[in-house]
Amino acid sequence: MHFEQYFGRQLKLAVPYIALCSLVTSSACAQVPATGTPVTPPANALASPTATTPQQVAVAQMPSALRPFKELIKDAKEHKGFFTLYQKDEKVWIEIRPGQFDQPFFFSYNIPSSLGERGLYGSQMGNSYQAVFKRIGNQVQLIAKNTDFYAAPGTPQAQAVAQAFSDSLLGNASVLSLPHAESKAILIDASTLLFADIPSYSTKLENAYRLTYAYDRSNSSFSKIYAEEKLSGLLVNSHFFTPRIAAAPLLPSPVAIPTPPLTTPDPRSFFVGFYYSFSALPATPMRPRLADDRLGHFVSTSHDFSDDLTPSTARYFINRWRLEKTEAEPGIALSEPKQPIVYWLDQNIPEKYRATISAGVLEWNKAFEKIGFKNAIVVKQQSDKDQFDTMDANHASIRWFVGSDVGFAIGPTKVDKRSGEILDADIAVSDIFSRGIRRAVAEDMHTTALGSAQTNHLDCNFTQLASIEMGFALDLLEARGAIDMAGPKAEELAQAYLKHVVMHELGHSLGLRHNFRSSTIYSMKQLQDPVFTKQHGMAGSVMDYLPFNLSAKGEVQGEYLMSSLGPYDYWAISYAYQEFTAEQESAELAKIAARSTEPALSFATDEDAVPGLLSDPDVNSFDLGSDPLAYFQKRLLLSRELWDRLQDKIKNQQLKTGDSYEALRRSFEYGFSQFSRSLPLATKYIGGTSFLRDHAGTARATFTPVAVEQQRLALKIIADSLFTSKSFVFAPEFLSRLGVDHFQANNRNDVSIFARVSALQTSVLDQLMSDLVAVRLLNSAERVKDANKTLGLNELYSTLQTAIWSELTSASEISAARRNLQREHLKRIANTLIRPAASTPADARSLQRAQATQLLTALRKAMQKSYTPETRAHLSESAASLSEVLKASLIRSGV
Ligand SMILES: [Zn+2]
Repeated sequence: MHFEQYFGRQLKLAVPYIALCSLVTSSACAQVPATGTPVTPPANALASPTATTPQQVAVAQMPSALRPFKELIKDAKEHKGFFTLYQKDEKVWIEIRPGQFDQPFFFSYNIPSSLGERGLYGSQMGNSYQAVFKRIGNQVQLIAKNTDFYAAPGTPQAQAVAQAFSDSLLGNASVLSLPHAESKAILIDASTLLFADIPSYSTKLENAYRLTYAYDRSNSSFSKIYAEEKLSGLLVNSHFFTPRIAAAPLLPSPVAIPTPPLTTPDPRSFFVGFYYSFSALPATPMRPRLADDRLGHFVSTSHDFSDDLTPSTARYFINRWRLEKTEAEPGIALSEPKQPIVYWLDQNIPEKYRATISAGVLEWNKAFEKIGFKNAIVVKQQSDKDQFDTMDANHASIRWFVGSDVGFAIGPTKVDKRSGEILDADIAVSDIFSRGIRRAVAEDMHTTALGSAQTNHLDCNFTQLASIEMGFALDLLEARGAIDMAGPKAEELAQAYLKHVVMHELGHSLGLRHNFRSSTIYSMKQLQDPVFTKQHGMAGSVMDYLPFNLSAKGEVQGEYLMSSLGPYDYWAISYAYQEFTAEQESAELAKIAARSTEPALSFATDEDAVPGLLSDPDVNSFDLGSDPLAYFQKRLLLSRELWDRLQDKIKNQQLKTGDSYEALRRSFEYGFSQFSRSLPLATKYIGGTSFLRDHAGTARATFTPVAVEQQRLALKIIADSLFTSKSFVFAPEFLSRLGVDHFQANNRNDVSIFARVSALQTSVLDQLMSDLVAVRLLNSAERVKDANKTLGLNELYSTLQTAIWSELTSASEISAARRNLQREHLKRIANTLIRPAASTPADARSLQRAQATQLLTALRKAMQKSYTPETRAHLSESAASLSEVLKASLIRSGV
């Protein structure tokens, strides 16, 4: 009955399915050369809309043409496993037994090898599905089941769900053999099924290069076959090509066009490894654990239509490994689990880093010990004797990778969608975290190639910011003489950074999200005490993005990097992994989650860190200590210290003869990066709101405006650092020696302090004078009883105006850079007054008009004094423009 229903639905879907395939493959088809390059006609439906070749029709109509099972695999090597594979020369067949059709299994693919640039790296995880093999006549389809929507099986609702949401076809192949005499199993050609772009890699390639590459079946091959009881794995060396690459346009394009691949000998052709795993789903789904928004776990989301008693259909199951106490030793007394979580260190990890990586992984065992699991996590080293590939779906792993343009680490997982059980995790760590310490690839670290961004941001990627942070810290330490890049201290630091990164990525692969509030739980003083941080961590959680813990000149220096877990990490592990009976679970989890008000357990994640209408200044990546504003100030101080030390080196002729000036420029840029990162973060205080995730009963408000004193201080720091005439003064001897790396063609521009400062000033000005900040300030006033407890919009505008136009009261000359800043300020006022957006609050407009009127008066008064012609012209022009603006009629969309 069930089979017939399903079969009928498949038939109905047949027509739209073919249309979909045409759409999917239209671009790939366009790439097939009209003549010349031989391409075997693809037999796979996904590789061509004309899926059924005349030969296939003939075979389908004449089952007698099928070859006897044993004859087809004569002399082939048998790989017995989840699906038994037969291999003879370049041919591989997959055996499917009758009982295996329509039985869900776990189908996944990973990308062990790739191009090494622009987001296309080796050792990366791909997608996974709950899949089935389905036989339609003489065709075997590989179907990805739709697991996002659910209703209790056998109910009318289940029928409605099945009718509403479609499965997907991933590939297909014809049956090639008659049924086996005894087992009745049949054979399909693995190449027909898998020599296709199942991962949709051509879209990634198009994103990176804006070129269309086609999958080339005839030059793809199997490079590894593996089978064990619960897994069959096939590594396909997939060839992609494009027949020709267009010549560059004669006129420069208005938008930057990415170059073709730079890392392959011929940019028209390259190979990408696709590792396909067919493996068993857990026989019994793990009991799912519901997520709680007061803690940060990755979740599997599905929609349950079984009944309409809940307001939402969404169910959020925590993604976690199956970790169970043995029946003999339940409870939280320490004992080994039935099965530990095993991470394999891939053979591609350099030997000298294996012990450190292992230590980073095993650090998490401390959190599991607190909830009764001894040796919950085990690390094993893959050896030459191990036949499996760590990219298969049955071996969680840590792998090393390199890229030509970027470095990062990533810790994704794959789960059983029915329960949230993590089935596989392959952490990839690039060599940047060790090599960067030694400065060998300094340029690579802060070069963003077009299209190199990682696309799935829920996965972690320690990208640019981490490497810029590392660059700044090392340049400062080197300039201070605190570290010799060739000495043992650098080696120690490289190992410490690697451990820190591995701990962070491992946290992701155990199911933990980022915690960007956790860096605020300790004071600066605590952070300077290595005994304290070794015991309690440097933050509430290693799942934060932490900067190097750098002390200012004369202060005590603590640990540079986080070396142990923080209190939040223990808490999040206990929520996800502590074992409870089904009856106890809900009440016990509620008790754990209720601890969220403890300051050490503070939590906020990625989406909370992005300022919008709500802007919480305590939730940032790369800040440290209980007072982020003090941290930003310190960072600006450290930047100036770095610059001063560099300028002293020039002045005192301390550079070694023969040293490249390029290092000076790099340090100069790193210093600047601290300004361009810290100042925008300081603007989060303006109209800022502390945003808690509390549930009812804690007596704390969800939204609390940032104290007015803090907002004023933030504004003062911004104004003093960015808008005063004293900021950014450099010795000409220094600026005239900022060299370039002549091997890097894209790095030859002269350094313009003027342009740098101007870009920074305008971006901060844009934020502070934005409608968004105005609305934030107006909203804040509504959340407090006494409006004087929040920063007023008028105070913001007048503070900015006073700082930016300070020469009007001091009657001093106005430098070119300052004139530029003042023009930018005027431009923004003019825009608000003449062309306000629909979103501009009326208060913002009226207050800016009042400020403009005052400014005009001050300008006219100042013009009576004597100035250089440049300053006089600037004042006169500013007054004239402002006067016009105040008289102009309004073009606006609201009142
Ligand atoms: Zn992360």
